[in-house]
Amino acid sequence: MSSKLRFQVHYGDGYISHDAYGVDLSAFERRECGIDKPFERSFGSIRKWLHEIFNVNPKTHFLTVQTVTNWGTEGDFWELMLIANTEEWRTYMQAALDRGWPLAMLIQIHQKTGHFGEGSTSTSSHMNQAVEQENEDQNMHVTEPEPQGIADQVGEKEDQNVHVIQPEPQGLADEGERIPGIVEAVQNEDQEARMMEECGDSSDDEDYPLLGEWRGKGFGNPVIHDIRSNEYEYRENEVVQGAKYPSIEAVKDAVKLWAISLRKEFRVVKSSSKEYEVNCVNGDCTWRVHAYKGKYKTHWECSIVTPHTCRLTDVAQTHRNITSTFVAKKMYGVILDKIDYEPKLIIRDIDDRFQYKISYAKAWRAKQKVFEMRFGTYEASYDNLPHMLSAIMQRNPESAADTYIVPSLDGGPGFLLRAFFCLGACVRAFMYCLPVLCIDGTFLTGRYKGTILTAIGVDCNKQVVPIAFAFVENENTESWYWFLERVKIHVVAGRPDVCLISDRHAGLLAAIRQLHEESRGQPPLWPDVVSRWCIRHTRTVARSAAPIWMEHRHGLPCFWWAGLVLGLWTGLLVDAVLPVLCV
Ligand SMILES: [Zn+2]
Repeated sequence: MSSKLRFQVHYGDGYISHDAYGVDLSAFERRECGIDKPFERSFGSIRKWLHEIFNVNPKTHFLTVQTVTNWGTEGDFWELMLIANTEEWRTYMQAALDRGWPLAMLIQIHQKTGHFGEGSTSTSSHMNQAVEQENEDQNMHVTEPEPQGIADQVGEKEDQNVHVIQPEPQGLADEGERIPGIVEAVQNEDQEARMMEECGDSSDDEDYPLLGEWRGKGFGNPVIHDIRSNEYEYRENEVVQGAKYPSIEAVKDAVKLWAISLRKEFRVVKSSSKEYEVNCVNGDCTWRVHAYKGKYKTHWECSIVTPHTCRLTDVAQTHRNITSTFVAKKMYGVILDKIDYEPKLIIRDIDDRFQYKISYAKAWRAKQKVFEMRFGTYEASYDNLPHMLSAIMQRNPESAADTYIVPSLDGGPGFLLRAFFCLGACVRAFMYCLPVLCIDGTFLTGRYKGTILTAIGVDCNKQVVPIAFAFVENENTESWYWFLERVKIHVVAGRPDVCLISDRHAGLLAAIRQLHEESRGQPPLWPDVVSRWCIRHTRTVARSAAPIWMEHRHGLPCFWWAGLVLGLWTGLLVDAVLPVLCV
């Protein structure tokens, strides 16, 4: 197993910007570098290695190393951490490994005061040149036989001696690392690192136990918490060998982003709790990404990444790996910030961002998934309802709640059919309201449909006061009776002559009759209940009838006029009568 880790090194004339995820280094140039055993190395050796890579003359220039860190416990917020000594370097490495951070650093080169040579504080062209030179250097090292390394080391030692004799004030507190013994060890490490850099290949196959059982393909269980997360590889899409991720979801996300940026599709070969592997949909292509979760490890690591050998033949409009789950993750924050965000806008956003089209149905499903990710699934909400009601009762004295569970025919857990609740504060408020309850039901949308029944009071300022609610299967005599029975017991109690105002639904009227009279072999539960029509409903019905007549106005003009007159007259009548009724 190779102990080399790959770093994303940002450099050049860019600027550090910030966004919601913290620092953004996308304005800098970037290259990938491998460092062997980085957690065991001193910072002095890392810096020296960087001096060589970027061709920095330590006499005239010095470089600063800032690593990308995320110390937050909630959500992702990336920050730069200036590394000045070995202790800080090792702290960073340990945290990066523990927390699964993508390894990234920003290198900035500054001119020392007193040296006014060519260039300014940061010279991009200089560094580009340096990178090219570095490649040549590497080739040189490859061709050099091992004994030559000693000569190199001697040369480096001399170079280092210059440092010892004329230590440059760099403001970086690791002067102790220039003690000759340590320097020598560091140089040996440098040599080893260079060799690793030169000979680095993709053969880092890991020795890990194969599981007997593979979990089926798929994208795991829905997560019921805030999933705002950063894109891995520090806003770069590429997945590299040795990259670490905190979870399999993060691996999948990174692989998907990379595949989309390459405009290539992949298929999942393995997806288990320990391994994840994908390959190119093109059967002849060698592209493959393999990630695993090591024994006793808490993070995932990409162990194999091989490039594509297939060619892009045409520019497709759609991408098979842009799934509704993927869209949901990408649009998560946007949709939650604006709940009524339309699917057509999601389609446009995905097109803008990835240059791929998704169907309306996929955009709609993605939106539903966002809600599930944030608020839980419909199933979980249904399951949690009795617990939530008991919590409401605990926290709100004098509240009442009840559920009606239909027993299962096969002896298993029953089915929650109805739920009733009223808050203690509202129940107490009703005592100071008019003896009137406006009751009505309306259908619910969503997975389980059903109907919500409400009882609303009117206070002395003619303002509405929500009193009691129930979720039932639909409006029928049984469900209305069940609801009104609980309203009587928990809300009305002994208050006399309470009037129910309703839309005269047949099931409701039958239920009121049962409450009013002796029924089911029981004395009347609510003998003094009074019920009246809701005149607003009556007016609405009359007005809504008018357009039906209007449709026939050519054939039967008298009906149209009759409808219009009746509708207007009823409206005027109601407007005049209703305030009187409510006083
Ligand atoms: Zn391919």
